[in-house]
Amino acid sequence: MNFIPYGKQTISQEDIDSVINTLKSDFLTTGPKVKEFEDEFCKKIGVEYCVAVSNGTAALHLASLCLLKKNDKVLTTPNSFLATSNSIIYVGAKPIFVDICEDGNIDLDACEKMIKEDSSIKAIYAVHFSGKPVNQEKLKALKEKYKIKILEDCAHSIGASFNGTNAGSCENSDCSIFSFHPVKHMTTGEGGAITTNSKEIFEKLLSLRNHGMIKNSSMKPWEYEMQELGFNYRITDIACALGLSQLKKLDSFVTRRKELAKNYEKAFFNTKIKPLYPFDENSSYHLYVVRVDFESLNISKEELFLKMREKNIGLQYHYIPINKQPYYKQLGYGNEIIPMMDKYYDETLSLPLYPSLSNEEQVYIIKTIKEVLSE
Ligand SMILES: *Cc1c(COP(=O)(O)O)cnc(C)c1O
Repeated sequence: MNFIPYGKQTISQEDIDSVINTLKSDFLTTGPKVKEFEDEFCKKIGVEYCVAVSNGTAALHLASLCLLKKNDKVLTTPNSFLATSNSIIYVGAKPIFVDICEDGNIDLDACEKMIKEDSSIKAIYAVHFSGKPVNQEKLKALKEKYKIKILEDCAHSIGASFNGTNAGSCENSDCSIFSFHPVKHMTTGEGGAITTNSKEIFEKLLSLRNHGMIKNSSMKPWEYEMQELGFNYRITDIACALGLSQLKKLDSFVTRRKELAKNYEKAFFNTKIKPLYPFDENSSYHLYVVRVDFESLNISKEELFLKMREKNIGLQYHYIPINKQPYYKQLGYGNEIIPMMDKYYDETLSLPLYPSLSNEEQVYIIKTIKEVLSE
């Protein structure tokens, strides 16, 4: 058995042809493919505006520049990739790490308590962890009641929905961000996007993506004007050509991920391996996370990782609590009282999950982890 990673891209001949056609065209960057990709992405998600950028972290940075001011306090989750809270720090605002629920998502009831007590809390950065959307009705209630800003980090959740609300459609948020890193549902190599229903935010994002530079029809052809300090966070036409062809297969990718998730759930029924949450049709299953009560077993979480690696299976632990990272500790974080997150990190692991994972490979993973845990 070849090494099975926890996640990887699925590339077809169509994807390759799409990229080659763009390489042969007049534009390698900032040409027709970027706009075409943005338009198709809007249609897919059901949102007014999309700005595609160089990666998901750039998307978070630009969204934070639009939503936050210096010293704003922002509630966010310790159970995410570093970039979510880093982007809050990029703009001089202050992340506050809130505990999580049983399903790995930020605890929005705890958020409400904190907002009631502290009016300097200006925003919530929620991640739809593993592909399972946070409760949209709660987001809506928080937005209406407290007028706070909401960002949805949809890096795990393209194709997910909550009671008919698509993740990233910004029905109950100001902005959503996406990542097209190869390990996510669809890829552009490196790439990301911000979606919003606000024209004002959309226009600011366009300017910030390109050095804060503006050109319009009242200017002379060679003129441009810099109105604010922006960046070069542009995405290439080559990347968007790949994105357009991947987008066509997104539904089938999500369907296959759900199929594999169902297989895992069935295979682990009545064993010591518990799914993080019961199979959820609304989740787009970026990750398949299981809980194991290591205290009742003869093996530690570290030993399991290494033994599975010996058998050519790549596990991953999503995520090391962000507040425990050395950089964050040096800023004074790390002593938050978040018992659910601590327990979560002791007990959980992600199993391989990607569209091209074969049934045979999955059977091998299931058999091997059961064997290793019962040794
Ligand atoms: C992948 C990811 C990002 C960052 O995306 P990049 O494209 O790698 O910069 C942000 N948030 C979450 C939750 C992610 O999983």
